[in-house]
Amino acid sequence: MPDPIGAITGAISLTKELHDIAVRAKDIESQKRILELEKSLLEAEKEMHRLNRENFELSKKVEAVSSPAILEFRDGYYFKKSPAPGENPGPYCPKCWEIRKKTVSLVKPPGDLKYVHDWRCPECNNDY
Ligand SMILES: [Zn+2]
Repeated sequence: MPDPIGAITGAISLTKELHDIAVRAKDIESQKRILELEKSLLEAEKEMHRLNRENFELSKKVEAVSSPAILEFRDGYYFKKSPAPGENPGPYCPKCWEIRKKTVSLVKPPGDLKYVHDWRCPECNNDY
């Protein structure tokens, strides 16, 4: 999707060029209309920035509300509360989940480490 703020900014700069052309042509009526157009575009740009901020804040709220429902903490690890059929119930990496809200399935550590640790995170390489 094209950047709407970039498109509006481009249109505003075109209105400035059009205004200069109208000034050189001494076309007062066109100058007035172009200034009105520029004013409308500036308002649209301001509203677009406000909507972007609002969208960012709402996305964060949705993430905060929905994330805790996915996993539950049991026996030192995170598990899916209700895994779909065939889906890995867990355990999932506690560090990746708590810091980045990323579900990373833990795997058995390689080689001799399997005698020291139960699990390894393939994402952050922590051993548990
Ligand atoms: Zn991890």
